[in-house]
Amino acid sequence: MRPEILFPIFANVLKLTGVGPRIAKLIEKLAGEHVSDLLWHLPSGVIDRRYAPKIAEARIGSIATITVTVDQHFPPKTRRLPYKILCSDDSGSLTMVFFHGRPDYLLKILPEGEQRVISGTIESYGDGIQMPHPDHVVELKDRKTIEAVEPVYPLTQGLSLKVISKAIKGALELVPELTEWLDGPYLAKQKWPSWNEALVTAHAPTDETDLEPETLARQRLAYDELLANQLALALVRKHMRKQAGRTIKGTGELKQKVISALPFELTISQNEAVRDITEDMGSEGRMHRLLQGDVGSGKTVVALLSMLHAVESGAQAAILAPTEILARQHLATIEPLAEAAGVKVALLTGREKGKTRAPILEGFANGEISLAIGTHAIFQEGVEFNDLALAVIDEQHRFGVHQRLALTSKGRAVDVLVMTATPIPRTLTLTAYGDMEVSRLTEKPAGRLPIDTRTVAIDRLDEVVQGVTRALKEGAKIYWVCPLVEESEKIDLAAAEDRHAHLQAVFGERAGLVHGKMKGKEKDAVMEAFSNGNVDILVATTVIEVGVDVPAATIMVIEHAERFGLAQLHQLRGRIGRGSEKSTCIMMFPERLTETARKRLEIMRETEDGFVIAEEDLRLRGAGELLGTRQSGLPEFRLADLAVHAELIATARDDAKLILEMDPELESERGQNLRVLLYLFERDAAVKFLRSG
Ligand code: ADP
Ligand code: MG
Repeated sequence: MRPEILFPIFANVLKLTGVGPRIAKLIEKLAGEHVSDLLWHLPSGVIDRRYAPKIAEARIGSIATITVTVDQHFPPKTRRLPYKILCSDDSGSLTMVFFHGRPDYLLKILPEGEQRVISGTIESYGDGIQMPHPDHVVELKDRKTIEAVEPVYPLTQGLSLKVISKAIKGALELVPELTEWLDGPYLAKQKWPSWNEALVTAHAPTDETDLEPETLARQRLAYDELLANQLALALVRKHMRKQAGRTIKGTGELKQKVISALPFELTISQNEAVRDITEDMGSEGRMHRLLQGDVGSGKTVVALLSMLHAVESGAQAAILAPTEILARQHLATIEPLAEAAGVKVALLTGREKGKTRAPILEGFANGEISLAIGTHAIFQEGVEFNDLALAVIDEQHRFGVHQRLALTSKGRAVDVLVMTATPIPRTLTLTAYGDMEVSRLTEKPAGRLPIDTRTVAIDRLDEVVQGVTRALKEGAKIYWVCPLVEESEKIDLAAAEDRHAHLQAVFGERAGLVHGKMKGKEKDAVMEAFSNGNVDILVATTVIEVGVDVPAATIMVIEHAERFGLAQLHQLRGRIGRGSEKSTCIMMFPERLTETARKRLEIMRETEDGFVIAEEDLRLRGAGELLGTRQSGLPEFRLADLAVHAELIATARDDAKLILEMDPELESERGQNLRVLLYLFERDAAVKFLRSG
């Protein structure tokens, strides 16, 4: 149970004064639904209102705080025109401008003949100056309430700075005084303030340098978040280790049959991974292992051999993919091999319904079907297994730690193998997978040729189409990737549909289209036609990003490559270069590129090593341009900036380890305070693993 002291900040933002249902929705979208979410919403800028010139001296474009006398109101003649108020001081005059101004309100706050302090942006207008919509209008006695320096917060459409600032101020007032959970000497060494102090300081910048992630206040807050993360992972790991496992002993018979049926030799690291996994399964403890391998490194075979290990012992195994396309692809790869070993396989996704579904469920329940392949539908209610011993989760980053734990409820002491194709910088693996043992597939399967990666300006589209035409004549299969279709104002987005229409005009029915908004069946049909049929050029949005395997595809064109993050580009490019033919990736970009975008494309040209790319990705993110963490599989931190605070992660891990060695159940006084920290960062599930949690 969440400690009572935290109740006020876990209240809904509706509780704050000035926040009604409409504003609450916007805040939820921007930061989150709890008051605490607003605490983590740190300023991204400052407005300095200390500039207080006379009207005649006020610089155009500046933010100025000026004491004026209100001279005269000029209500507009029509509603389209702005409401104007003329005011002055002894140096000159200035016009305040309000669009859609409400006369009664304006007369009330700015009565003619009285003095007011106004603050806002100075603009030139004709010969004079104007201030459109002053940010502040106060009486002289309240001058101090217009702060000298104001924090600026990231906003969202419909939510003004004034409103969010007020809400955050309200949130800060609800913050309880919390007892220190960090180690005293460490705190002193870092010169960090207390949590309460850090929070207040972080929300009260006095200049731009106070916004840097390296300030003591922001470091402290980041560390707390990272420590909560590491502590939670350590608790999960401890819990997993303690859980009774079962010893799965395979005979090796089925694995051998499949290995003989493979048209290739396993690589060294594939063999090592299979050995690690079967050893884990054979040991008493519960397996919780991560198989990390770049796109195309051959994880599927490793998964299959691991699953057969379970089957050899008389049990069942399941593999879970994040999308239907992938589940179907696994079926296509696995079924013939499993057949060679005489093992029964079935697919279960949301689409297997009624008459098709019943016999599958029966087969799982009575054990006739040994291998289950599917989407999360496998783990829904009503699906029973005779004896599930291993769950393989492919492309893990769509599942969280706790979902991972829930998955194991379909069997008895289910071992878990998680596979991810996202190479993660070493320093960060900890934040995402600190609770698991790791196997890595480090080499690409033999016989793969390097991919020739080129960058081409978008105005050379015609040349690219000509090149594609030639390649198609020679029998090539081509991916043509467009940035996602968005219903936003991004008019210049080369929407996949437009491009498809364009290419169809040239290549007819050989041009196919697949995108995220299509229905499952339609998608499959197109993928099938691309894989084995008459579609030779496939226009796609990023739905092809994860795991799709068409070895015959040797060319990929990526339009607006600069709009993708490095991790995403790497994943995309990994779709080609999978066969023995030489492959080419053409990344198209517009005339003007940001420095970071240019560097990204350069890195893509230089290397295919996912781990190098991941390190560079992180470094570039440090340069200020955030590439979607969502795609990278890393947990999203609110306060920690992984590029800047990487060092703190390692410290937090060591700290967490030490804490649990000395106080395994967090029962000491400090332990109690650390429990509060876990709740503060919503690691409630981890606290459940503690005695008297
Ligand atoms: P990923 O790790 O991206 O899931 P896959 O398991 O889909 O990679 O493997 C990619 C391709 O490489 C498949 O066509 C697979 O048959 C092939 N492959 C896997 N292992 C080897 C190997 N040791 N030698 C040659 N080809 C392999
Ligand atoms: Mg895969």
